[in-house]
Amino acid sequence: MKTLGVSIKVVRSAKHGKAVALILALVLFVSLAVVGCAAPTREISDFDGFFEKMLALGQAESIMTWDMETGGMPDGAIDSRANAIAIISSELFDMGTSDEMREFFTAVEAAEKRGEADEINLAVYRIAKSDFDRLNAIPADEYRAFSELTSIAVIKWAEAKEANDYSIFAPYMQQIIDYNRNYADYLIKAGLYSGNPYNAMLADYEPGLTVEMLDEFFGELRSAIVPFLQKIVSSDKQIRSDFLYRGVPIEIQKDVAEWMMGTLGFDMNRGALGESAHPFTNSISHDDVRITTHYDENKYVPSFFAVMHESGHAIYEQNIAEELVGTILDSGVSMGMHESQSRFYENMIGRSRAFWEGMYDDFLAVTDGHFDDISLDEMYEAVNIVEPTMIRLQADELTYSLHIMVRYEIEKAILNDPELTAYDLPEMWNEKMQEYLGLTPSSYAEGILQDIHWAYGEFGYFPTYAIGNAYAAQIRAAMRKEFDVDAAARALDFGTINGWLTDKIHRYGSLFEPSELLLRATGEEFSASHYVDYLIHKYSEIYGI
Ligand code: ZN
Repeated sequence: MKTLGVSIKVVRSAKHGKAVALILALVLFVSLAVVGCAAPTREISDFDGFFEKMLALGQAESIMTWDMETGGMPDGAIDSRANAIAIISSELFDMGTSDEMREFFTAVEAAEKRGEADEINLAVYRIAKSDFDRLNAIPADEYRAFSELTSIAVIKWAEAKEANDYSIFAPYMQQIIDYNRNYADYLIKAGLYSGNPYNAMLADYEPGLTVEMLDEFFGELRSAIVPFLQKIVSSDKQIRSDFLYRGVPIEIQKDVAEWMMGTLGFDMNRGALGESAHPFTNSISHDDVRITTHYDENKYVPSFFAVMHESGHAIYEQNIAEELVGTILDSGVSMGMHESQSRFYENMIGRSRAFWEGMYDDFLAVTDGHFDDISLDEMYEAVNIVEPTMIRLQADELTYSLHIMVRYEIEKAILNDPELTAYDLPEMWNEKMQEYLGLTPSSYAEGILQDIHWAYGEFGYFPTYAIGNAYAAQIRAAMRKEFDVDAAARALDFGTINGWLTDKIHRYGSLFEPSELLLRATGEEFSASHYVDYLIHKYSEIYGI
């Protein structure tokens, strides 16, 4: 499983594969040490030293990774650093699969049977047991082989993308496909999942999410958004957006980033802002949640929104209840729920007219005259311009989930059609891009080779991006029933907005499964309808259709 620290490090930093996820998942067992139920044969406290050691090793690995990615490490140290991380990882793997761990696990189970486990204990058990079962369902030598495979595949993927030659990557992609098909098979044979084999992949990132739910979700999205996009593309509306890519000195960009983080309610005393090639969030501990951004002197506005996005992830982590500190519940519950928070701040607030109305004078002042000639309306429309693109990472809010739909359908096919090979995928990709976005990639680099996820062996991760957007819209709709969200955004009253989110979502950490958390927060089961309504309403207004 992937909780925040794990998933965010794995994905956004994009330097690790499933091996690191596995190792970090094992680290999650550490927090069981503080759960505090009595064991029948051994006292819980007997395990304290064991878990303290694991926790310390996990933190060391996390900080080493942060240091590597934010430019703290000299280039010459790469080999010794990689070696140190490998040793720590190996030690954590050994400890996580040791007899000591099994005994501890048994002790927690026994406490549950005696009725001595409280809500927190049971939630910790739910997550820990799921991880444990998954880890044990797959032979350790296959995990290791897969880890070696993906570390080579990532290099081959980069070479293939650079050379625009899919044949360099295809043999590795085929092995990754084979591995994941086996992986799903092991998990299903172990009785952990049933139904569509792709369900076993999804569970790694969004517990409880199934193919049936996603088919319904993407079906609604496809029938509403694909024809709507056609109307927008053929509309006469002209939106000017050149100034989004104006150069702004990096010193000013940093000032704006810190001002915006403070405005949104990021607790600077318990976090930090760093720089990296690709923005990410790293939750090292409850009181140490760090985000990064990438400053590009010649492309300012994307960096502004990256800060809002990562702040959303961080504010979620920073507002988890104190009573969950030191347990594995002290982390956002899933990738989708995490993405809902980042997208809420980035898009639902950050790209709303009310927010820009409320902060535009301050924005003009803090950007030191660089946008003084741009009106509020021009800025609002520019940050919401719809332009179908080949590249997911450059996609606007409306078309973003269509990019995810392409990847979801390919991944689902890979897990369900044994005849499908890595060599069939580029054509499949191009057909779906044409169908949903009206574009056909002219190269592999802007087509099937654009994302690193598959080179890391990650199947089942992409859908959480789209699900996160939809959760965010559902959460926004529930929030709007209780107070005037636009008025709060206009007043930059993030005390009210964050207070509601903390009360309904943030404080619970991983106490509830994502579906239960969403139901409790919004009073409804997950549905695509709020997301579709939000998109159609917003973009109909902007484009006058
Ligand atoms: Zn994110």
